[in-house]
Amino acid sequence: MSGEVRIPHALWTRLRATLLADTSVETKCFLLCRTLESESRVVFLAREVVPVPDDAYAHRTHSLVETRPEFVHQLLVRCAREGYSLLEAHTHPWSANPRFSSIDDRSDLLKFQTTQSMSPPFRHGSLVFGYDMSFEGRFWDYQRERIAPITRLRILRAPLETRYGTGQKPLWLDKAEQSVYDRQIRAFGAEGQAILSSLRIALVGAGGLGSQIAHALALLGVGQILLIDPDRLELSNLNRVVGASYAQAQRGWRKVRALALRLNRARPPEMRTITPLPHDARSPQVLAHLLGCDLIVGAVDRAVVRQYLNTVAMCALIPYLDAGVGVRSERGKLAQGGGQVQLILPGETACIACVERGIRQSVEEQLTPHQRELSLRGGYIQGEPIPNPQVVFLNGVVGNLLAWELVKLATGCAPVQPYVYYDLLQQQVFPARAERNPHCLLCSEHPDSLLGQGLHGLRGYILRVDKRKRRGKPIPAPRRS
Ligand SMILES: [Zn+2]
Repeated sequence: MSGEVRIPHALWTRLRATLLADTSVETKCFLLCRTLESESRVVFLAREVVPVPDDAYAHRTHSLVETRPEFVHQLLVRCAREGYSLLEAHTHPWSANPRFSSIDDRSDLLKFQTTQSMSPPFRHGSLVFGYDMSFEGRFWDYQRERIAPITRLRILRAPLETRYGTGQKPLWLDKAEQSVYDRQIRAFGAEGQAILSSLRIALVGAGGLGSQIAHALALLGVGQILLIDPDRLELSNLNRVVGASYAQAQRGWRKVRALALRLNRARPPEMRTITPLPHDARSPQVLAHLLGCDLIVGAVDRAVVRQYLNTVAMCALIPYLDAGVGVRSERGKLAQGGGQVQLILPGETACIACVERGIRQSVEEQLTPHQRELSLRGGYIQGEPIPNPQVVFLNGVVGNLLAWELVKLATGCAPVQPYVYYDLLQQQVFPARAERNPHCLLCSEHPDSLLGQGLHGLRGYILRVDKRKRRGKPIPAPRRS
């Protein structure tokens, strides 16, 4: 069992400012978190930083810090009432390689044992930070009645920042990876390649656009790729689903199965970690996979699925990259065509809901009249899908634009562009502004927003799916693209 902390950038800045305000003495604060639980991992989703006021310290010197029990008690009552878990954070301001001291060990063990009877899923943990915000972390594993390590802390900013706890193994590439990805290592370094190889990505949509993205991610050496799409291949898919065979389409293979088979063959045996999940992205069996991944990539043509992925990303603090394409033809002439890639960093960039609200005010005003018409009637930026032509060259451009944004986000080899639009007829790629809505129900810092709410925020969705099941009605399958 191990732990991970995910924290929006604004909250990280606040945590840092609180802890490092006075480095002549140890400082303490608390993080109120939601948690996501799986068999082997607990993810702490940071929601709020609670500083310790001066009068709530019992002791505070350069080598010791202790808060008054009443202050902690108040916080525990709040945790019980509001369903939060608690991470206690303090500093060792003299250290760049902080480790818990024997005093920390004794006091943590006592605290954890005192609170272990609080009703699950309450989790109690602690973090110690050095002056450079390097850290060591741990939490109480109440099932096994022992302490478990918090191994990494992910800050949702661009580029994505992952800090590993003191003593954790650094990322590395094995021999096969070094050989296969040699030319890429020359482009964005061994460290960048090791980051890509450590990623676990859920890719939703394995149609024309999704298969292009899947190919790019597989060739880039992304460690684990979950391919999610319930659809079966049809002959009419063979003009654009990369890697599918005629025989597979005749036999009605699942798109994800055909794609996984093809992509795994192109990788070293130990990297055949591309897994097909032939289910609706909104089904309960897919949710656990989405919650456990490092990044969600969406290449779907239904607004409702796109909104669902956006909600999961916000609730679980997972970066989400979304792409869409659209073409309109009149009597054999391409009248309009284009696509867009949007990067959604929870709490940092505009989410899908912000863009849908703000499209008229910000993105749209930068588009040419025919791009605007396409966006509005299309559904890839807003509204319903386009029941329109599908062409491989457009998917290829937009799919690879997404792969490029993903590499920039993960490795930091170039600045990310949160929203890019590709105009097929003008052969132009241009960035667009996508403004955050400060009152967005999903991504704002409002106390009731879904940002970092974990399963609390997704409860409505899960119940809706379960209810339909109980009534015996099948969940409608998405329309084939
Ligand atoms: Zn939003």
